[in-house]
Amino acid sequence: MTAWPANIEDDLGGVLCDLCSMAAPSGHEDRLSAVVSEHLFARGLTPITDRLGQVGVTLGSGPGHTTLVMAHLDQLGLVVSAIDPAGYLRVQRLGGVPERVLPGMRITVHTYHGDVPTVVGVKSHHLTPPEEKYRALPANELYLDCGTESAEEVAELGVRVGDPCTYGFTWSVLQGGRVATTSLDDRLGVAALLALADRLQKEPGSGSIHLAFTTQEEFHVRGALALVQRYRPDVVVNVDIAPSTDTPDLHGSSPVQLGRGAVLSRMSFHGRGTLGGLIPHPALVRGVEESALERGAKLQFEAVIGVITDAAFLPMASGDGIAAVDVGIPVRYTHSPVETAQLSDLTATIEVLHSLMLRVGSLDLERGFGHSLGPR
Ligand SMILES: [Zn+2]
Repeated sequence: MTAWPANIEDDLGGVLCDLCSMAAPSGHEDRLSAVVSEHLFARGLTPITDRLGQVGVTLGSGPGHTTLVMAHLDQLGLVVSAIDPAGYLRVQRLGGVPERVLPGMRITVHTYHGDVPTVVGVKSHHLTPPEEKYRALPANELYLDCGTESAEEVAELGVRVGDPCTYGFTWSVLQGGRVATTSLDDRLGVAALLALADRLQKEPGSGSIHLAFTTQEEFHVRGALALVQRYRPDVVVNVDIAPSTDTPDLHGSSPVQLGRGAVLSRMSFHGRGTLGGLIPHPALVRGVEESALERGAKLQFEAVIGVITDAAFLPMASGDGIAAVDVGIPVRYTHSPVETAQLSDLTATIEVLHSLMLRVGSLDLERGFGHSLGPR
């Protein structure tokens, strides 16, 4: 780990690069969890790590609502599912990996004894029949090549069935303050929360505020349920990426674009079996809008099907209900190894979050879903 600056926002790009370089496949977030925790301790804070590897830290405990702000540590990947007698590794998906990006990729297998570099095999182009050239192979038809020639050699490397794998780390600086890398989802959110911790140490928020770094989000949004029981929040603010659609293949499907600031999700719905989704609490919608306005930070709206976040099941996880909102940072090419974002959108998100923390403790949450619309 390179040394992070005293103030995270003095080198957001550097911190983000460092965060993205640390592998944290779902269920195996310990490296990143430890780094985030050490960082918070170094700031004089007292983070707690739960049995799931989730890190939580409390900043302020004034009168008013209790707020939980979350971002997930984990990233999607693959899992070794079988070892071929000839030394190839078979894999299954861990989270929503798009299989069509995998052939020809560098993949790192994370074993108990250390990381093992591999490549995903791709049938030699010279020998590929025309009918196969445009077909995406499912994960269970792909294989990883670690250079070994037998299952015994694989065993000597320490690779075992169940070991998680991640995209080989890359970091590209593009034009316009944009970066392309392997796990902006959700290291952008993690960076935003670390910056928010700095801000709240200098200018405390209202009510009780807990920042939490969750695990296993990409494995069906499970970890946050435990955090709700720990912190019993009135309000949840979830910080994750939002798909940016300013590319030729998605143009016009949503207004979300790079460079247009933070994203306020006004509806998300997974629609792929989980039935998870979130309609944000109206008081938080107004709170986020006012926060952006007050800071002069750009804010864009999103309403999208196909997205699920850690907040999806939380509103109903307490007897009185929890007011929740998703605040996003726009990202192109989501879940691919070249997720692309613009740093100014991260800065805008930090501004919105900090301003929101100053007012969240006294928001009128009783005006719930029945009071969302204006007069008839
Ligand atoms: Zn995410």
